[in-house]
Amino acid sequence: MARRGNLFVVSGPAGAGKSEIVKTVLRKHPDVRLSVSCTTRAPRPGEVDGVSYHFVDDARFDELVAEGAFYEWAHVHQNRYGTLKSAVQKGLDDGHDLILEIDVQGCLQVLEQNPDAVGVFVCPPSRENLEKRLRHRGTETEESIRVRLGNVAGEVATAYRYDYVIIHQDWADVPNALEIAADELYAIITARRLERRNRIEFLDALTASLKK
Ligand code: 5GP
Repeated sequence: MARRGNLFVVSGPAGAGKSEIVKTVLRKHPDVRLSVSCTTRAPRPGEVDGVSYHFVDDARFDELVAEGAFYEWAHVHQNRYGTLKSAVQKGLDDGHDLILEIDVQGCLQVLEQNPDAVGVFVCPPSRENLEKRLRHRGTETEESIRVRLGNVAGEVATAYRYDYVIIHQDWADVPNALEIAADELYAIITARRLERRNRIEFLDALTASLKK
């Protein structure tokens, strides 16, 4: 039987840099896959349907909720986002190590439902840094920056329920902060792969061959 993949749920406050960290890992390590979510928000310039997200309208999202198609879904900043059960199931069944890059509400749902999922919280080094990152992104309005900062305290309070915490340093202080954070995320993925429970089939086969 093919090896079943491992599930990693990466979350943290908006603007902490989780999507850049995940993108860096995916670029450097094609053995890791991302589950593409559905969202009702409009595509940003450069975003491709089916790659960044599956962009759907409210009616379609309602249908998917009614069909029970979502593993988890949540309202995030006036839009809805959801992880498709089918995408997660297929990815894991095909033996891929799969990252869900989702908001903290969705992440806590997944961690509660699935004790095997590994929770990774990406944290900014400070409030000032988080604000700077949100402005630097240039895609947010002043209103949305204010809403996002208002949500951060509650999000950080949930960090205690994750398995790992990555502190994404400020690039002004640590020029290769993104590379370091991506290497840390890949180290977590590697550590899970090397766990004894993921080596049982190999150890059984080795043991059997040595008895011949
Ligand atoms: P953005 O609109 O900036 O791409 O994403 C906004 C937030 O939605 C981010 O925190 C992102 O992690 C989260 N998000 C993306 N996909 C999902 C999903 O499938 N479920 C949940 N709960 N959150 C998601």
